[in-house]
This record gives sequence, structure tokens and C-alpha cells, in this order.
Amino acid sequence: MDLSLFRCQPGKKLETYETVPPSGITKEEALARLDENRLKMAALQDKLYAERKNALLLILQGMDASGKDSAIKRVLTGLNPQGVEVTSFKAPTAAELEHDYMWRTSLALPPKGKIGVFNRSYYEDVLVVRVHGLVPGHGMGDKEFWRARCRQIRNHEEYLLENGVVPVKIFFHISKEEQARRLLKRIDDPGKNWKFDAADIKERAYWEDYQRAYQKAFESTSTDQIPWYLLPSDKKWYARFLLSEILVEELKRLRPEYPVVSEQKKEMLEHYRALLEQGR
Ligand code: ATP
Ligand code: MG
Repeated sequence: MDLSLFRCQPGKKLETYETVPPSGITKEEALARLDENRLKMAALQDKLYAERKNALLLILQGMDASGKDSAIKRVLTGLNPQGVEVTSFKAPTAAELEHDYMWRTSLALPPKGKIGVFNRSYYEDVLVVRVHGLVPGHGMGDKEFWRARCRQIRNHEEYLLENGVVPVKIFFHISKEEQARRLLKRIDDPGKNWKFDAADIKERAYWEDYQRAYQKAFESTSTDQIPWYLLPSDKKWYARFLLSEILVEELKRLRPEYPVVSEQKKEMLEHYRALLEQGR
């Protein structure tokens, strides 16, 4: 599958990216492929974990109800939980606000061998923080300030990549109409009532500002090495399938291998085999 179609392209406006799946794949096919990809991911993760050479950092962003939580639930099922660390970033605490904005995310970076998942991330610091002017003295229009933050993020991710932590950046792209349908479901479905948050309705009023802030963030942080993937997400089954395709490809690119056993260790293994076979 040609995943480059879903990479952020320089100069292309966010509103021109599809939120609906392309034709040519049915829901049944996508679900079957997702199942296959889960097995592939598990096999690759096993080697990643054993090798302890690289870490994968999956960054999930999207408007409220875009499907971040459920993608974690449905796509990562089947991985060894011991090798996965999920962190959800909410509004920062007073203690977190006393630090630089990447402090809390840096503490949550995955160690080598693991897959780290950021459910929201330091990107919130050029999104919600920009839209609501949460840095005193720096409004939405203070281009220089936000451009500098994006540069800091770009540099940070380059540093991570060069040090074996590979960022994979996913944006769940939904339409405003689809968001309304999903928020209504949270009201109508008793099993989803707990997810309803009046704040989501308040944020929805800033839809255009968010789209603009996302656009700016993508423009300055999507690079050849560390691109943003913009997933058409109005159909959850499609976004999940696509995420699984991206994860398989990214894991393969790391070429994880089980550690090569030294001659000395092989001798030791033979020694203990002999002992065990003698019934000791
Ligand atoms: P859902 O998609 O189901 O609405 P969610 O990811 O929005 O889930 P919530 O617990 O509803 O989860 O909200 C987290 C909130 O924290 C978001 O509104 C997000 O914008 C906010 N947040 C995250 N990081 C920051 C930050 N650095 N500054 C201010 N707000 C932040
Ligand atoms: Mg929310």
C-alpha cells in the first residue's frame, strides 16, 4: 500500500485532505487486513523488545472525538502490554506548568525496546495553547513565537530520531459534521455518557482556529524523515486499518532482530542442555 498518499504535502491546505476513505476498500476487507496487521505488529514488537536498540514513539493528535482512544484500544490490542507505554496528556498541572513544556512529555518517552504512545502530546503546546492564548503575551497571531515553538519541536524530534527513538505522527482527520454525530452519540448512548464532556462543545466553537493552528504545525514540523500522516477518519474502521498499515511499515523500517547469541553463550546453552538431559 502506498502510504505516501497520506503524508502531509508541503503547501497543501488541511481542508483539501479527505476525511472520508478512498474508494476501493470495503469495511470487511479493512477489518480483515487490520487482523493480519495485528499479528505482524506483534511479531515485529517481539524482536524490538528483545533487541532493545530502538523505541517507537507513536504520537496521536486530533480534534475531540476523532478516535484517538478507540484507535489505541482496537489497533494496539495484540501487542505485548509489557512493551507498550501509553500516556494521555491533559491540561497541565500546576507542577507541570512550572517546567518547560516538553518536560512532562520527555519524562514519558519510551525506553529502548518499547513502543510509547502519546495520546495528545507537546503538539498541544502549539494547538490548544495557541488557540486560547495560554502563554501570557503571545496571542494566536504572534507568528514568530509559534514558529519558534514549532522549530523547537522539529529539533527535538530530530534529536530523538538520531538517538533511536522514532516518532510516528498521526492526525485523525474528521469533518465538523462527523464530530457532531459522535458527540451526539455520547449523549444518546448510555454506554458513552461517561465520555461526554461539555468542554468538547465549547472547543467545537473554535474549530476554524484549531484547523489553522494544525495547518501551521503540520507545515513546519512535517519533514521527509519525520512526516505527519493525515488519516481520513470519518470512518473509524478505515482510520484504524490505515494506522495499522503505518505501524507495520514503521516497525519494519527499524529492522528489529533477535540479539545474536555469542559463541560463549552458545557453549553455555549446550552445557546446561546436557545437564538438563541428564535429569539434573
Ligand atoms: P476525547 O477525544 O474523548 O474528547 P481528550 O483527548 O480530549 O478525549 P480529555 O480528557 O477530554 O481527553 O481532554 C484532554 C484535554 O486536555 C484536551 O482538551 C486538551 O486540549 C487538553 N490539553 C492537553 N495538553 C494541554 C496543554 N498543554 N495545555 C492546555 N490544555 C491541554
Ligand atoms: Mg475532550
